[in-house]
Amino acid sequence: MRLNGKVVIVTGAGQGIGAATALKFAREGATVALCDLREDVVDRSIEACREVGAQAVGFALDVADRQAVDGMVAGVIERFERIDILVNNAGITRDARFEKMTGEQFDSVIEVNLKGVFNVAQAVVPAMIAQGHGVILNGSSVVGIYGNFGQTNYAAAKFGVIGLTKTWCRELGPKGIRVNAVAPGFIQTPMLSTVPDAVLARMSEQVPLRRLGRPEEVANIYAFLASDEASYINGAVIEASGGLTV
Ligand code: NAD
Repeated sequence: MRLNGKVVIVTGAGQGIGAATALKFAREGATVALCDLREDVVDRSIEACREVGAQAVGFALDVADRQAVDGMVAGVIERFERIDILVNNAGITRDARFEKMTGEQFDSVIEVNLKGVFNVAQAVVPAMIAQGHGVILNGSSVVGIYGNFGQTNYAAAKFGVIGLTKTWCRELGPKGIRVNAVAPGFIQTPMLSTVPDAVLARMSEQVPLRRLGRPEEVANIYAFLASDEASYINGAVIEASGGLTV
């Protein structure tokens, strides 16, 4: 087990990529602290992690709420005495064409997808610096590299996440903390549930592998990047898109 005894926080862990990542980390021997906006889905995820033998605790909170985030981090440190890994996965979409996008749509996506990443990372970093080691993994997107129609807000946030990743790689590397980002393509999760089947089929056709990705395929990358096998990977953005962008 590659993550035996490691303590990890996964945000947005109630469903989709976050739930798959929490379960993968649990299977690899980690103790998992799961956070999500929705209490019902966190409870389901905790259950799944405990079923494979892991210690799992949950927090229902909004990553945009700094006070709540600080409370979660204090709670994890009090219970487990350290935080080895943070997976900053929570994210939302509020799509609209640029001319039609409201200020509220723009702000809400920046607040969760960019400021939320800042909040949780800044809250865990003092513990990682004190330990002399840590891994921070940030959820970006291929949209954060290439942009996308209808996603001005999301693209701005996901480009921003790559900027944070590269800056923290420089600032925190000397303190023993590795920071990397993952940029998935189209992954079959509840985030895509509003997309009509015909559109999903067209999206699959654009991918050289001719299918959407599975949440577990992104979880595998997070687990690898968190493990000592990735000990010299720092400041990287790993694309997982089935070749979509080639
Ligand atoms: P999802 O919508 O299925 O799950 C996201 C989870 O995050 C949900 O459980 C939700 O309740 C939680 N969440 C939302 N806002 C939150 C907040 N403010 N605080 C705490 N939790 C919150 O999404 P997913 O497809 O699993 O996506 C996970 C991450 O991967 C997101 O950052 C997303 O932008 C990114 N991503 C997804 C895809 C894709 O195709 N699905 C592609 C590229 C990147």
